[in-house]
Amino acid sequence: MEKKPQIKYVTVVLPLALPNNYTYEIPNKLADEIQFGIRVEVPLRNKLYAALVVELHEDVQIEYKTRKIISVIDQLPIITTKQYELWKWITKYYSASMGEVMNVALPSGMKLTSETIVVLHNSEEIDFQELNDDEFLVTEALTIQGELRIDEIRKILDKKTVYPVIKSLVDKLIVYVKEELKARYKEKKKSFISLQETYLENPDLLTTALDLCARSEKQTKTILLLYQKFKNGVTSLRASEITNELGVDSSVFKALEKKEIIDIRKEVVSRIPEIKEGPTTEMSPLSPAQEKALIGINSHFAEGKHVLLHGVTGSGKTRVYMELIRECLEQERQILYLLPEIALTTQVVNRLSEVFGNQIGLYHSKLNNHQRVELWKSCYEGKPIILGARSSLFMPFQDLGLIIIDEEHDPSFKQNDPNPRYNGRDTAVYLAGLHGAKVVLGTATPSLESYNNALSQKYGLVSMTERYGNVQLPEIEVVDLKLQYRSGQMYEFVSKPLREAIEDALAKDEQVLLFQNRRGFSPTIQCTQCEWVSECGNCDVSLTYHQFRSELRCHYCGYREQIPSSCPSCGHTELVKRGFGTEKIEHVIQELFPSAKAARMDYDTANTKNAMQDIIHRFEDREIDILVGTQMITKGLDFDNIGLVGILNADSMIQFPDFRAHERAFQLFTQVAGRAGRRQKKGRVILQTFQPTHPIILETVSYNFPRFFQREMKERKSFIYPPHFRMVEITLKHKQAKTVFDAANYLSSDLRQYLKNRIIGPSEPGIARIRGFYLQRILVKLEKKQSVIDLAKAKILESKHKLQSAPGFKSVRVNIDVDPY
Ligand code: ADP
Ligand code: ZN
Ligand code: ZN
Repeated sequence: MEKKPQIKYVTVVLPLALPNNYTYEIPNKLADEIQFGIRVEVPLRNKLYAALVVELHEDVQIEYKTRKIISVIDQLPIITTKQYELWKWITKYYSASMGEVMNVALPSGMKLTSETIVVLHNSEEIDFQELNDDEFLVTEALTIQGELRIDEIRKILDKKTVYPVIKSLVDKLIVYVKEELKARYKEKKKSFISLQETYLENPDLLTTALDLCARSEKQTKTILLLYQKFKNGVTSLRASEITNELGVDSSVFKALEKKEIIDIRKEVVSRIPEIKEGPTTEMSPLSPAQEKALIGINSHFAEGKHVLLHGVTGSGKTRVYMELIRECLEQERQILYLLPEIALTTQVVNRLSEVFGNQIGLYHSKLNNHQRVELWKSCYEGKPIILGARSSLFMPFQDLGLIIIDEEHDPSFKQNDPNPRYNGRDTAVYLAGLHGAKVVLGTATPSLESYNNALSQKYGLVSMTERYGNVQLPEIEVVDLKLQYRSGQMYEFVSKPLREAIEDALAKDEQVLLFQNRRGFSPTIQCTQCEWVSECGNCDVSLTYHQFRSELRCHYCGYREQIPSSCPSCGHTELVKRGFGTEKIEHVIQELFPSAKAARMDYDTANTKNAMQDIIHRFEDREIDILVGTQMITKGLDFDNIGLVGILNADSMIQFPDFRAHERAFQLFTQVAGRAGRRQKKGRVILQTFQPTHPIILETVSYNFPRFFQREMKERKSFIYPPHFRMVEITLKHKQAKTVFDAANYLSSDLRQYLKNRIIGPSEPGIARIRGFYLQRILVKLEKKQSVIDLAKAKILESKHKLQSAPGFKSVRVNIDVDPY
């Protein structure tokens, strides 16, 4: 054998939020099995963990005495080196620990807990004579339970180190260890039925077959169906298909198999839903504008630049992405298509799968563990296209050629909680660098960050200013609520012009979308005498009134209670509803337009993917005339019959206390408006506001993104905000208000020593208590200088550790959010 450098130590990632990785020694007997990316069993403090090997060393210099690896779990790596590079970057950039990154990056079916499972092969063939005591105990337990987790075995044997026992049982072929990647999930198999070849080659024989089954009507029907399908070119059918069509069950198939008339074949089928199997369709030809955009994108790519595709709603960006995907497929490189989670339930997926079929792997949060591992494996093996929300960037790509970030402005690309608080858009750009892939960031309403990158030549900029098929952008009409109220024209919160417009649309058989901001007035209960408002006992927010279940609920912690019959504060019995949510709107609208069908889509009615899809389908099938919704309805829905969009209250968006409020408002208004009139006809938009001359309103109405951008950038500069400056937000949490207050002051004065006036606060955030925890916030604003940013991040971590080891502050939680969104 060739003499290799002797690897004696490994660095591993433990599935814990530890600040550092740990190093272990490789025992001689395991030396040949150790490689990057496999899991090993290691001791830490008094426990054993499965940890991921990420570095190999010939020698190490560390102060502590290294302990030894106990066992090897995987034979093959479960991650690629590029993935580890990405993890490292996230850890550093977002001040997270490697364990936390691993936690979000690996599908839970592969999670590195000490939950590896030991399974019995075949209990009938065991020779108990050849087992020693420990082996006997484990085997006996397995004959009863079938499978055991490592820690269960530890309990049975009352020892910590059980791997030798397991290994010996494995060697004796009595048990096998489920490697999560292979076996923790079961493949799903489906039966396929076909006529045996003799019959297919010689249809005359079929009469013989039918004679054989003459006494069974079900068998006869089955044969005839199979034969009929065969004549139409279909050689095998799913058993379930036949069952559905003929009402026969598997006993019929078994009987026919026995008579050697049919074959039953079991095939592994994918558990991943929604992607069309079967033939795909051709793409429609590109419009001249799309052609031009494509040339623009490719020429920026040729210069090595990523591209911001700024295309108005309905300009046909998806079709351009599809072309880029096709080009990338020709080069046999992989594609990552990132979307906000919610947009995944919509037509985009269908449109892509019509063209690319099962070349696409769909990754989203509703997948179960099995599906996740399955997709992981297929990506590792080179699945051409991965379509998913932000966490799909953690998939094991071999060779990424293209990343599409659709709706790049969308806040849901940012993970806010828990750590790592990463931005999927920005992380994807880093990922692209690792693979030498190109990136297209597409949107009708670019984020200030991305547009700024484009103007400063960091990204190429390609614009599409017209809708596909010469459809006009809808005209946005502003309704002044002050005037409406003054002249008594309001019906609840619906102005006269909006009422008329709805009537108009309904008369023309068009559908209507009404948007109410989630952050808007959520409905609450108030006492008319003392102005008492029902509040959550755990959070500093008022409870939201839910008419449907006649209860009050907290949207932060889930607390709920019945509506009191009298005021708990003064006993007065007249309680009134304040504010309006989507539920109230739906009622009022139904009242106003009794012959129309109203429905709503918000976090209550669409809390599961199926519920949401159901509403979307009903809307598509025109079972719903007026759909009331929150933010949800803005994301990529492409309905062709919406004549009117109403924005009920623009002000609640504009006034929200957040430095991005104006950016969000502009994006939201433009995106909602964009849902109107997407095919052929020009749509109408009615925007209700108390501030008709507010710059944001004027810029929205005129679709003047550049003007909005220039003005907003100026404001951001004068108030020292991104994208001119970088921000880190530190949030401290504790059950005691005083403790968190003291801790925040300790931390901020410590940081101020180095970072001076870059430290702002501490202060109480808008909602100062959530789920019983009091909050304090410190903002760090940094000039965009790498050395300053690096220093600041290092100091923040240092101060955090200092704080948490100071007496009295151990249990204070400190969250660091880099680039808060
Ligand atoms: P965007 O994503 O830019 O808002 P879409 O990609 O949803 O726009 O396109 C808007 C509409 O135009 C969709 O209904 C789409 O099917 C249609 N469309 C776009 N490009 C083409 C094309 N080249 N041929 C036919 N239909 C197209
Ligand atoms: Zn009262
Ligand atoms: Zn609460």
